[in-house]
Amino acid sequence: MVSDAKPAVIVTGDVHQCDSTVIREQRFYDGNETSAAKSYAEILGKYGLKGTLFYTGRCFRDEINDVQAVAGMEHIEIGGHTYNCYKPRIVYKVWRRLTGYTNGPRILQEWDIRRTLQAAQAAGIKITTWRNHAYVEDANTLDLLLKFGITHVSNEVGPYAGIKRKVIGDRDLISVGINVWPDHDHMVHGDLKLEAGVSRRLVRNRFPNNVFQPLDWLEQVVQDINVRLSQGRHAVLLVHPGCMMTLGGMWLFELLCQKIAHLPTAGISEIRSDEGPVSE
Ligand SMILES: [Zn+2]
Ligand SMILES: [Zn+2]
Repeated sequence: MVSDAKPAVIVTGDVHQCDSTVIREQRFYDGNETSAAKSYAEILGKYGLKGTLFYTGRCFRDEINDVQAVAGMEHIEIGGHTYNCYKPRIVYKVWRRLTGYTNGPRILQEWDIRRTLQAAQAAGIKITTWRNHAYVEDANTLDLLLKFGITHVSNEVGPYAGIKRKVIGDRDLISVGINVWPDHDHMVHGDLKLEAGVSRRLVRNRFPNNVFQPLDWLEQVVQDINVRLSQGRHAVLLVHPGCMMTLGGMWLFELLCQKIAHLPTAGISEIRSDEGPVSE
């Protein structure tokens, strides 16, 4: 376990089931996100780096072979990422219209978390870390995650997102905020073009609207990492296996790993200390 006194690079990625109605980017490459995640995990291992991958519950149910291959790697942590990306869509859409919240009624959100954890458990995988699809959480989310034994959540996104201990009643969990430009919203790939990018950013993402060409995005990410570490903070990345694969293979991810190979990395659950307030 790393000491929290030593800032580390936290590499994370989200992995969705093969379902063209959820993630249309899978049409840009052969295979699916779980197979891309396997290549991603192998590349991390090749450079001696640790990573955390958040899978949807349906990956544990429907694509377990590729997930198992990654779960068997010591340098990778496996977390949950909702069961089915807020589907059936009509149920969540109606709830959003009525309340303004994306995660559905509490009972549905509870079912979603339970079902994801059960699907993982059936595959012999214990989950204690979580990121909601599209980073969305509501007033029920953290309370429910605590109820299911989740110790680390990663739903904050922005340059000033940090590591926070969040207290709910008499319990607490660690929130690990993404504080380096995430790829999906800010890097030209798949359907995201340079000129069309301004409105693409997910609603809870606090980074500016910039969109970069892949190599420029990489340069920005490396620069962010150096800044965060020099501030004595952890650098928390979101780099999706699927987004990387749309670039015609994992070459950009491999380049990133080469550039950070000399730096300390950690899995999300190794993070223990609140960083305190980070000024904006
Ligand atoms: Zn997602
Ligand atoms: Zn993407």
